[in-house]
Amino acid sequence: MTAPKEMKEEFPILKRNVHGKQLIYLDSSATTQKPQQVLDALRHFYTTSNANVHRVVHTLGEEATALYEQTRKKVADFVRASTEEIVFTRGTTDSINMLACMLESSVQPDDEVMISAMEHHSNLIPWQQLCKRRNAKLVVVGMNQEYEIDPADLKAKLSEKTKIVSFVHVSHVLGVINPVRELIKIIRNKNKEARIVVDGAQAVAHLAVDVKSIDCDFYVFSAHKMYGPTGVGVLYGKKALLDKLEPASFGGGMITSVSFEKSTWLDSPHKFEPGTPNIADVIAFGTAIDFMQRDDVKKAQEQEKDLIKLAHAELSKLSSVTILGPKDCSKRSGLIAFTVKDLHPHDVATGLDQYGVAVRAGHHCAMPLHKKLGIDASTRMSFAVYNTKEDVKTTLEALKKTIAALKK
Ligand code: PLP
Repeated sequence: MTAPKEMKEEFPILKRNVHGKQLIYLDSSATTQKPQQVLDALRHFYTTSNANVHRVVHTLGEEATALYEQTRKKVADFVRASTEEIVFTRGTTDSINMLACMLESSVQPDDEVMISAMEHHSNLIPWQQLCKRRNAKLVVVGMNQEYEIDPADLKAKLSEKTKIVSFVHVSHVLGVINPVRELIKIIRNKNKEARIVVDGAQAVAHLAVDVKSIDCDFYVFSAHKMYGPTGVGVLYGKKALLDKLEPASFGGGMITSVSFEKSTWLDSPHKFEPGTPNIADVIAFGTAIDFMQRDDVKKAQEQEKDLIKLAHAELSKLSSVTILGPKDCSKRSGLIAFTVKDLHPHDVATGLDQYGVAVRAGHHCAMPLHKKLGIDASTRMSFAVYNTKEDVKTTLEALKKTIAALKK
């Protein structure tokens, strides 16, 4: 078993130097780095089994199809769903856009679609545009003092007009873990018909997710934030709902029959995956899930909590730093965003880059949230299984030097 400190060895890119310094990668909320076995899986597929899936009887085609469908099974097991409930997409954004298209006909003029104040633009704009097309209203639920989606405000704003509620599991700026089960109970108690979407993009690489116990209707996430390749995402949907939905796009590979007059669809998930899918990347995503299920990786995931506590404690000691999100680290997952008085986050991130530390700065695709917090931008450090306490300590030293240099 690999000790957490040695986990870095499995990620070739982490051997890189940046500005003559050993790279410390603290931008995993944007995208995680990929372990050697995921890189190998991509190469292996293209060098041994590359063929199109589903419509083939030759050996390579059958191998490719089996590997592609094996990943679906791995994803289904990973989030406790069944294979018919797992649709492959291009990413979280694509999954949400598909849903906004497929649920559109359930929204009538004056109906309401509800989101929260902390949503990523990807879980805001598709719903905003749906409301615009249907003359419906986008309703925004606020946050409580702990920066969670406010259950009281949710309750107050729900009505029979609410057709869709879509909110984030873990905020990519506040780092807060929303009490999804409790929020969904509130929604179901007030409105049984509303469809509930959970954006799990920042949750799946850090928390054990069980879509059945959460009781959402749809749950969406991206492979590239879970040690897998870019260009692959997942749309989980309850089978009974997917059975009723019309696909958002059409083409080959999704049909049972086609004539010039009409076409009929395969069952879910294939009716939602027209055309040639992202075969190699889906298969390598399966390898990423194998990686995440190793005991030592799960242990390293647990230890991310200590990194958050350490970073939070050290950042709190800096008088010019304001941390965004909950003070209670047990309510956090994966990341810490902060501002430094009188310094632009881009300057802070550029300063840290000189020390080989990669962090993200800007509005992080959450302009309305930053506005609500009274700021334009922030700096975010985010963690993954390859990060160590030394990474945090080195970064904090680099941050102190950066602040001192910029404030001169
Ligand atoms: N939702 C959240 C909470 C995110 O953090 C992100 C990306 O950072 C997205 C959605 C969009 O994910 P993707 O760019 O993989 O589609």
